Amino acid sequence: MDSFSKILKDNNLKITHPRKVVFETLLERKTALTIKEITKACHDVDRTSIYRTLQTFQQIGIINIINVGWKKQYELIDVFLPHHHHLICLKCHNKKSIHDETLEAYIKELCKNNHFQTTKHYFEIEGFCKNCQKIIARPKI
Ligand SMILES: [Zn+2]
Ligand SMILES: [Zn+2]
Repeated sequence: MDSFSKILKDNNLKITHPRKVVFETLLERKTALTIKEITKACHDVDRTSIYRTLQTFQQIGIINIINVGWKKQYELIDVFLPHHHHLICLKCHNKKSIHDETLEAYIKELCKNNHFQTTKHYFEIEGFCKNCQKIIARPKI
């Protein structure tokens, strides 16, 4: 919460109730959420305020937007959540967070080899989860 209030202050923004509640929800859930999920969790904040809050969070760069199919999901940046990537199921839209030291080390090496100073990286894998693979593979009657 401390770094959150600092970022808001640095951007000349006040801590309003919607900003506080949406931030806390994203922080507690530790994963990317859809607008619907955020609205449900922040039941005392109206949808318009949630949209506006997410827009603000995007402008000040504290959330990442992940496209899952045609749906957008919102997640806090690595400053607030441990660094991770996603396996995204195209059928049920579930996301699994993954963290792999080998992958991280390799990304670091790639940048180093290209004399590139990286500030952040994205890496999302789309496909079908274990459950949905079963559904797809099921023969039609
Ligand atoms: Zn699935
Ligand atoms: Zn990474």
